[in-house]
Amino acid sequence: MRPLIAGNWKMNGTIREAIALAESIGANAPRGEADPDLVVFPPFPHLHAVGSTLMGHGVAMGAQDCHAEPKGAHTGDVSAPMLRDIGCAYVLVGHSERRLNHHESDADVRDKAAAAIMAGVVPVICVGETMAQKAAGQSESVIQRQLQNSMPDRFSTARGVVAYEPDWAIGTGRTPSEEDITTIHALLRRLAPAGTRLLYGGSVKAGNAPVILALPNVDGVLVGGASLAAAEFLAIAAAASPA
Ligand code: PEP
Repeated sequence: MRPLIAGNWKMNGTIREAIALAESIGANAPRGEADPDLVVFPPFPHLHAVGSTLMGHGVAMGAQDCHAEPKGAHTGDVSAPMLRDIGCAYVLVGHSERRLNHHESDADVRDKAAAAIMAGVVPVICVGETMAQKAAGQSESVIQRQLQNSMPDRFSTARGVVAYEPDWAIGTGRTPSEEDITTIHALLRRLAPAGTRLLYGGSVKAGNAPVILALPNVDGVLVGGASLAAAEFLAIAAAASPA
């Protein structure tokens, strides 16, 4: 499976900085047949400018969230058809920062993923356990429940993506052991439809990417902090390219 290297820019940067970052990634992105697919997820206000900057560079763009309805009285929200219209190929749904800070349930995530598919946008469904759940030995049961309840119909035909992101590993510099990532990704492989790309996310850097990307059933990575520096993000992408 062709790897996918995804950069989640979160709520960072000015529009100038976003354009500069996109220019640098676009100009230096690997373009070989066997090189990974790249996608960046800028904040909503930067999508238009980043999309224009990346045009013709072979780097896809996604959004960090969408609403479950295609339109209507939802002040402050953004619909999946709007994302498609502005050039988004992907959308993150159920990132742990949305699940925790906005109390999004698995049902919310499933509805958003379904809306994305309806609009022709590939959903990246994020799942992951808390440290308390991990300490209680519940990682696998939590992730199984999250994924089964978050995947909508037609997830397989839409070539959906799943990202395993333990919330205690996000932005902390801590990562699960290789054995833990392998165990969870084997579970995801059993649960997700054939052909689903499975990403690992949580404190991925250029230094640890080669080891993580070599683990079985890891088809790419979702990168937060380290995706804000083009050189670091491209070094992670290089780790997914053939030697
Ligand atoms: C993320 O927010 O999706 C993420 C993986 O963040 P970081 O790489 O900074 O841990």
